[in-house]
Amino acid sequence: MFIEPHIRKSNAKTGWIEVICGSMFSGKTEELIRRIKRARIANQKVELFKPAVDIRYDTEKIVSHDENAILSKPVVNSRDIYETGVESEVVGIDEAQFFDMDLPLICERLANEGVRVIIAGLDMDYLGKPFGPMPQLLSLAEYVTKVHAICQCCGNIAVFSYRKSTMTKQVLLGEKDVYEPRCRTCFLQGMEEKSPDKGIL
Ligand code: ZN
Repeated sequence: MFIEPHIRKSNAKTGWIEVICGSMFSGKTEELIRRIKRARIANQKVELFKPAVDIRYDTEKIVSHDENAILSKPVVNSRDIYETGVESEVVGIDEAQFFDMDLPLICERLANEGVRVIIAGLDMDYLGKPFGPMPQLLSLAEYVTKVHAICQCCGNIAVFSYRKSTMTKQVLLGEKDVYEPRCRTCFLQGMEEKSPDKGIL
């Protein structure tokens, strides 16, 4: 479990970046919510954002799969996060993989100006490739937590979000009807079954 190095900043001018990544159903949002709640208990000014594209459950709330809900602001561009964010002590960003490529720069600026930035996002897309701005965010972060799901096929540790349909859009919102967590072996096997000629690489 992630233990905050400190909750109250010793130096108000310096913040930091935390990234929580993993596949679908790995508990990323639950972990983000846990950290946000702890910051609120410490009476910190907290602001939570999510991309406007993600309206699976609710337009105002970040809701995790276990229905632990918390209010959030839907935003279209990562730059919209900056102005509200810089007034806060803690900024949480959910589903970061859906944001534009300016997000790493925005997070860096916020952290440089004293904000604790906590990012949750899918590190890989349905093909097992790095997703959107996540690789840059992982490089910039002081603290990285990779959470794992359980493979639906064999019960091993899962890091891939296997898409059960044959649709090839990178962004296809869905839940257990569309995706399942899989380990590397079962993921490769599924990809092979879907397109036997191509392989994944
Ligand atoms: Zn497996």
